[in-house]
Amino acid sequence: MSNVTYLAKLGELTLKGSNLKEFENRLVNNVQLYLETVKARVFLRAGRLYIEGPESSIPAIEYTLNHLIGITGWAKTIVCEKNIESIKKAVMQTAILAKNEGAKTFKIDVRRAEKTFPMNSYEIAIATAEDVFEQKIMTVDVHKPDALIRVEVRDRCFVYCDRNTGRRGLPVGVSGKGLLLLSGGIDSPVAGYRMMRRGMKVECVYFHAYPYTSEEAQKKVETLATIIAGYGVDTHINIIPFTEVQMRIKEKTPDNFNTLILRMCMMKVATMVARRIKAKCLITGESLGQVASQTIENLEVTESICEIPLFRPLIGLDKEEIINTAREIGTYETSILPYEDCCVLFSPKHPVLRASVEEAKKIFDSLDITNLLEEAYEKREIKRFAARDYVAENFSVQSSQQ
Ligand code: ATP
Ligand code: MG
Repeated sequence: MSNVTYLAKLGELTLKGSNLKEFENRLVNNVQLYLETVKARVFLRAGRLYIEGPESSIPAIEYTLNHLIGITGWAKTIVCEKNIESIKKAVMQTAILAKNEGAKTFKIDVRRAEKTFPMNSYEIAIATAEDVFEQKIMTVDVHKPDALIRVEVRDRCFVYCDRNTGRRGLPVGVSGKGLLLLSGGIDSPVAGYRMMRRGMKVECVYFHAYPYTSEEAQKKVETLATIIAGYGVDTHINIIPFTEVQMRIKEKTPDNFNTLILRMCMMKVATMVARRIKAKCLITGESLGQVASQTIENLEVTESICEIPLFRPLIGLDKEEIINTAREIGTYETSILPYEDCCVLFSPKHPVLRASVEEAKKIFDSLDITNLLEEAYEKREIKRFAARDYVAENFSVQSSQQ
């Protein structure tokens, strides 16, 4: 069976000077993790990432390249001999494929990294383009072509159509680890995704108030974690049983402070988890002014109890923008499933809009809740989700013992 080759272009990486090696290694390592159950070879050469595998690995490789963070674009490429006849043949093949996919105009872009090749870039472009328009496959448009066919003359020749954009950003893992407070809502998965695009490895914590929140609510969060793992290589959810904590809050807190005090309790336990897993920050899906608990004053209260940095990547985005990203990454449909989250069930009719840190801390301290929070932390359940498992389950590929 013949092999297929894909190439991906590295984005921001090329700018990063001394960190470059570490970033490149991380990217290759991430791809290898996605494709652990697939017979594929992954390597870097001259600032390009290459993946080679049998035809049966195409779905797995394309899933990986569609999800991988840290590339600006990718393509399935023809690899051919370094002579003009082979290059012409490869260009023709690529042009026919592009035409079949609806392209009417084309342009050829040649990069000649291997300077010993007897023709220059211009001559190669002319020679290869000739066949394509003489045989009326497509017409030339050098300004806005439907199909941009690239020819790269390196140690071998690569011919491909430049079309798939990649997920720019830094490879997951180069910016350390963060702990995402993942609810079943629309915002928090997007917040996690934003941080992954900056190279952060994202782990999750979910506060569950069974039986006030259903098994389905938890399943929903697990589905979101699977999607997050699709971009972040893998992730764990720490599921924290929070029913008793919520009951205590309900019983002993002035109604209008319920949500805010609950947030403080979440931060406290999240910090314990973060310490345990060596995460350097907490991440939430909060956005300024979105709900009562997200006024600047109330955000200050929530933050006041965190002992490590708290990142809120969505703080300046409006709901529309957040929803657009949620749709693009595939979390939206799950997020809008109608299971109550614990905050909704316990939320007061008239939540305090502008609490002071002092007042909130006083209430928090009066609850004498530290033991309960520690118990909840001790009872956490941990589940792992990995892109590798998704690939293994969904794309029937030959297994290998790599
Ligand atoms: P989301 O859509 O992410 O649920 P939201 O707009 O509904 O956000 P809130 O319910 O006020 O806002 O929650 C604010 C943030 O607190 C969430 O984005 C999430 O990071 C965190 N959070 C809320 N509830 C939970 C929970 N049950 N478990 C873990 N984190 C939570
Ligand atoms: Mg919510």
